[in-house]
Amino acid sequence: MNASEFRRRGKEMVDYVADYLEGIEGRQVFPDVDPGYLRPLIPTTAPQEPEAFEDIIEDVEKIIMPGVTHWHSPYFFAYFPTASSYPAMLADMLCGAIGCIGFSWAASPACTELETVMMDWLGKMLQLPEAFLAGEAGEGGGVIQGTASEATLVALLAARTKVTRCLQAASPELTQAAIMEKLVAYTSDQAHSSVEKASLIGGVRLKAIPSDAKFAMRASALQEALDRDKAAGLIPFFVVATLGTTSCCSFDNLLEVGPICHEEGVWLHVDAAYAGSAFICPEFRHLLNGVEEHLSLPREAAGTAPFLLAHNEARVPSLSLTHQEHSHSVVRPRARGAQVKKRTDLTGAFRLDPVYLRHSHQDSGLITDYRHWQLPLGRRFRSLKMWFVFRMYGVKGLQAYIRKHVQLAHAFEALVRQDPRFEICAEVTLGLVCFRLKGSNKLNEALLESINSAKKIHLVPCSLRDRFVLRFAICSRTVELAHVQRAWEHIQEMAATVLAAQGEDKAEIKN
Ligand code: PLP
Repeated sequence: MNASEFRRRGKEMVDYVADYLEGIEGRQVFPDVDPGYLRPLIPTTAPQEPEAFEDIIEDVEKIIMPGVTHWHSPYFFAYFPTASSYPAMLADMLCGAIGCIGFSWAASPACTELETVMMDWLGKMLQLPEAFLAGEAGEGGGVIQGTASEATLVALLAARTKVTRCLQAASPELTQAAIMEKLVAYTSDQAHSSVEKASLIGGVRLKAIPSDAKFAMRASALQEALDRDKAAGLIPFFVVATLGTTSCCSFDNLLEVGPICHEEGVWLHVDAAYAGSAFICPEFRHLLNGVEEHLSLPREAAGTAPFLLAHNEARVPSLSLTHQEHSHSVVRPRARGAQVKKRTDLTGAFRLDPVYLRHSHQDSGLITDYRHWQLPLGRRFRSLKMWFVFRMYGVKGLQAYIRKHVQLAHAFEALVRQDPRFEICAEVTLGLVCFRLKGSNKLNEALLESINSAKKIHLVPCSLRDRFVLRFAICSRTVELAHVQRAWEHIQEMAATVLAAQGEDKAEIKN
């Protein structure tokens, strides 16, 4: 393909994408395919000779689209929203065209510098304390991690390195293995599985703190676990608090948990992978309160800053925070911004400098080499998307976007509350509603099965204190009240069928 064909095909592709998204409502949200559907449809080996673009795009409709779950359909209410917006897609094209791998400042200065500035913009939108910003000479700053899972893992590994170095400085005879077997991380029983995965990869034990009636981690339960473990000779070193849990969007009590971590010298990582972007709205910013309190404690010293990591030199503590680097879903899927208050907490943990990656400015103190802030070496020019989206939506546009999603969730909640057969299972704060039929888990499993088999809308469940619960997450950029109402009518119809079938089952048993 030469430049002139690229111009032509590029325009066709833009039309294809715009048609796809404009017409997405007409496509069935969940595909009708069985596992293994695709292999028989394509050749077993790559073609020896070049093929035509027309043939490929034709196959997209014939082979790919039938197996696509349409995450941006206004009838997709599963998981959490993932990003999509036209400005982000345009920026993605440019990102692909520049095609740099910005692991160091020298590898592409604009790639590094735009990311630093974008993360500062985001930090300001979130009203983070000044310490988390890079500014012109700050010690903090932000980084775009590939996923929230990576952000948590990087924070855990950095905390592990830090506590190990601290302990070895005080007692040089301690081996790393001896320290590792005593290290304990903590998180609420509502935390995302990525926290457990991080502890498995990091080779440290993780303890689940029982959450309270509102599914929040509170001071007393955390303190009790820390005291018990310290008395047993273990070393608490890392706590993950979640703001916006995956199951029900509950919020751990940061105002309580932060000071404990500070007092105990434990690194606090805040996972706000879903809810974080909502904090750009002043009315939701209070959900992040505690970041400031933690930082303003007198023992607080130079903190960390690429994940929203706040930090305390006294022993190990740090605070890190992961959040989507956009508003709910307009920048890009799964890329997570993370900020720290003291960048050396991360860079010190992971720094390796082979000759082929060195450059003349690396020790100047003037630049950032993001390769030291993350697991992979390579990184794309992802901040272009933030730049395009922030500029083309403006903060007001992003706030309006979030508010609309939250309003739609409340509208759905109101509909559920009007139907006495149903119950709401957790407080609705942002765009997620947890609900169920009053009755057994089996009944609710049957309801979800019937909804997802009909494929008019798509939902996923969660388990709250062993109760099977349906989650209704406002996801699509184009979802409107009418879609939510239609989805609710459909759920009611399915519920009527499931309840009728249950009545028949009961009658059969009696007979
Ligand atoms: N943390 C929370 C609260 C989440 O909801 C999710 C995913 O939805 C994750 C972490 C993992 O996200 P990622 O896919 O970016 O690793």
